[in-house]
Amino acid sequence: MQLRTAALQMIVTARMPAFVDPVVGSQGRKLSLKQTAAGSVVIGGAYEGDVRLGSNGPQLGVPRAGRAASNLANAVSLFPALRAARVTRIWTGLEGMTPDGLPYLGQSQRIPGLFHAFGFSAHGFALAPLIGPLIADLLEGKRNNHALAPFAPDRFGRFDSAGSAQENAYKIGL
Ligand SMILES: Cc1cc2nc3c(=O)[nH]c(=O)nc-3n(C[C@H](O)[C@H](O)[C@H](O)COP(=O)(O)OP(=O)(O)OC[C@H]3O[C@@H](n4cnc5c(N)ncnc54)[C@H](O)[C@@H]3O)c2cc1C
Repeated sequence: MQLRTAALQMIVTARMPAFVDPVVGSQGRKLSLKQTAAGSVVIGGAYEGDVRLGSNGPQLGVPRAGRAASNLANAVSLFPALRAARVTRIWTGLEGMTPDGLPYLGQSQRIPGLFHAFGFSAHGFALAPLIGPLIADLLEGKRNNHALAPFAPDRFGRFDSAGSAQENAYKIGL
């Protein structure tokens, strides 16, 4: 099993006059954007900061200023009103990324009765309403691992001890 830890960056601006209602996602460039009812704008787009490792694995994400600037430039190119924005915070959140961008779902092959649902690869909010009931069915025996085969936790192989924690890429024995 392979899981990479990403430190996904977000930017928030000071309040500004309303200029956009829907949550915006872009296919052509790295950008997601929403304006809160209070007027501040939350900007993301899967730009990654640095992951700092602790003795037990990744512990802290540190934003990269240059990538935040690229993120803002993308936002300004679509929404010129943002040229006047004042950035108040930039932060990161740690997220588990799988090699194919699909989560790991299903019962452990090694520990019967242990069920996995993780590695949401930056889409966990959107997927949770679908995956919650799927996992509930699995726990109650209404579905079996076979139905979730494309998401099998061991689809990239089992744990091997040649882990690469220093490179921030983890192989986990589950
Ligand atoms: C900046 C950012 C923006 C995102 N934007 C979006 C988006 O727009 N749309 C979308 O769909 N998804 C988005 N995501 C992804 C989404 O947040 C995740 O996919 C989702 O939260 C993963 O859910 P999870 O339950 O697997 O893990 P988490 O939400 O990380 O929950 C794991 C929980 O386990 C706890 N925990 C960890 N270790 C232990 C332990 N040893 N003992 C007890 N508790 C422990 C943690 O404190 C945490 O509360 C974003 C993620 C980030 C970081």
